[in-house]
Amino acid sequence: MSIDGDYDPDNIFAKILRGDVPSVRVFEDEHIFAFMDVFPQAKGHTLVIAKYSQARNLLDVEPEILQPLILGVQRVAHAVRSALKPDGLVVTQFNGAAAGQTVFHLHFHIIPRWEGVALGRHAGGQMADVSELTQLAEQISAMIS
Ligand code: 5GP
Repeated sequence: MSIDGDYDPDNIFAKILRGDVPSVRVFEDEHIFAFMDVFPQAKGHTLVIAKYSQARNLLDVEPEILQPLILGVQRVAHAVRSALKPDGLVVTQFNGAAAGQTVFHLHFHIIPRWEGVALGRHAGGQMADVSELTQLAEQISAMIS
């Protein structure tokens, strides 16, 4: 899908937000929803999305949506760091299929990194065990401040 185009209300994250598809929730408030990536690139890979926006990417998001979203990303990143004690954290966000975007509802990835541990494949690879994701989500959620 192009960097331009219409928002698809049946994209997988819209379905997750509606509760039509299950997800492992980390945190939510009136603006954002954070949940575990089901194909994690690293242990603790967390996604943060805006709850009430039809933005597909960073370029078409409304400023009033972006502000609480990015603050939410920082808040969840702090919690991921406190919970899992990684050596570093990658925050990524892709715009358009050519850039690697596969789900066209604006989202940020928070990916913990440990020295010497290779990054998994983006949007592919093994589906994670839901009970492991649930345990990680609980650890991260407990550190939200
Ligand atoms: P993008 O490629 O658009 O930047 O990232 C989409 C992300 O969503 C990928 O990291 C992919 O693993 C994740 N993903 C795709 N389908 C699902 C799903 O059904 N549930 C969850 N939790 N994550 C998903």
